Amino acid sequence: MSGPLIIPIFIPHEGCPHRCLFCNQRQISGTGGPPVNAAAVQAEILRWLARTNAASRPTQIAFYGGSFTALPRSRQEELLTAAAPFLQSGQVRSLRLSTRPDCMDAEQAAFLKAYHVATVELGAQSMNDKVLAIARRGHVAADTERAVAALRQAGLEVGIQLLLGLPGDSTSSLRQTLAQVLALRPDFVRLYPLLVLRGSGLADLHENHSYRPLSLGKAVVLAAFMKERLEQAGIRVVRIGLQAGTELEAALLAGPWHPAFGELISSRLMLRQTRKLLAQAAAGHVALRINPRDQSVFRGLKSFNINRLKQLGLWRRISLQTSPEQPRGTIAIA
Ligand code: SF4
Repeated sequence: MSGPLIIPIFIPHEGCPHRCLFCNQRQISGTGGPPVNAAAVQAEILRWLARTNAASRPTQIAFYGGSFTALPRSRQEELLTAAAPFLQSGQVRSLRLSTRPDCMDAEQAAFLKAYHVATVELGAQSMNDKVLAIARRGHVAADTERAVAALRQAGLEVGIQLLLGLPGDSTSSLRQTLAQVLALRPDFVRLYPLLVLRGSGLADLHENHSYRPLSLGKAVVLAAFMKERLEQAGIRVVRIGLQAGTELEAALLAGPWHPAFGELISSRLMLRQTRKLLAQAAAGHVALRINPRDQSVFRGLKSFNINRLKQLGLWRRISLQTSPEQPRGTIAIA
C-alpha cells in the first residue's frame, strides 16, 4: 500500500524575521516569485489531487519553507482557509506546516488546531545555544522545549528538524542535542546534513575557509548514529537529507549531498546490525533474514556492505534469506 500523500505548498522565507546563516530558502524550494495567494494554493492542491493514486491515499497539505506561525494572523488565515474546501470535501485529511520554535505558544497552537492542522515541524536545528547563535537562528533551545509543550498540549503531532554539521557543533554538542531531543519525545525527527548554498551567509564563511562542511562519509556516520538512537527510543526518523532538484543542484556549493543519502544511512545501519548479529551468534554459519525489498540496501551502494563483510571474513558465514514478513530495515537470524 502507498504511504500518505503530502501536498507541499512552498511559502519560501515568508514570516522569517531574518535570514539564518545557512538559509537560501528560495533556492531550495525552487520558488522565486511573489508569495502564493489563495487561488495559487488551491490550483496546486488540485494539480496534486488529479494524480491517479491520490484518492486512495491519506492526504495532508503541507506549508513548508518559511516560518508559518511568524506570519501575520491574517496571512495564516488566508493560507489555511484556502485549504479548507479540501478538508470539507474529505479529499484531504489534515494540514501540516513548519515553523520556528520561538513562534509557538499555547494560543497559536490552539489556533492551528482549530484550522485542522494536525502536524507541526519545528526547525530546532540544534539544542545547543552556542551553535544556534552561530547559525543566527535567533532562538534558543528552551524555545524548542516550550514549543513542543504547547503543541502537545493542543494535541498536535510534533516533528523536530535537526541539522548535522552546523558551524561550532561537535560530537559532544550533537550528543547533547540528541539527549535533549530524546527527552522531548517528539513524534518524529527529520535530519538534514548541512549544505553550503549559494547566496547564504554560510557560503561566505566557506569561501573564506572559516567553515568546512562535513564529508559525505562523516555525515553518513552521524546521521546513522542519530537515526539508530532515535528509533531505539521509538521516535520515527522521516526523510533524511534534501530532495534532489535542479534548483538545489544549481545552488549547491559544497557539502555532503547525495541523491540517495537516506539509503546510505540505511545501508550503514544494516551493516552494523549484521555485524552485531554475527558477533552474538555462535561461530560458524548463520542464516540471516531480511525483507525482499531491502536487498539493495543490504548490499550497499556499489556492494559496499558485501565487500566490507568479505574484508572482515564474515561474508562466508552468511546465507541470506528473504521474507516479506521481516519488517523493513531489520535483520533477524532465520
Ligand atoms: S527560519 Fe527557516 S526559512 Fe527562515 S531564514 Fe531560517 S532557515 Fe530560512
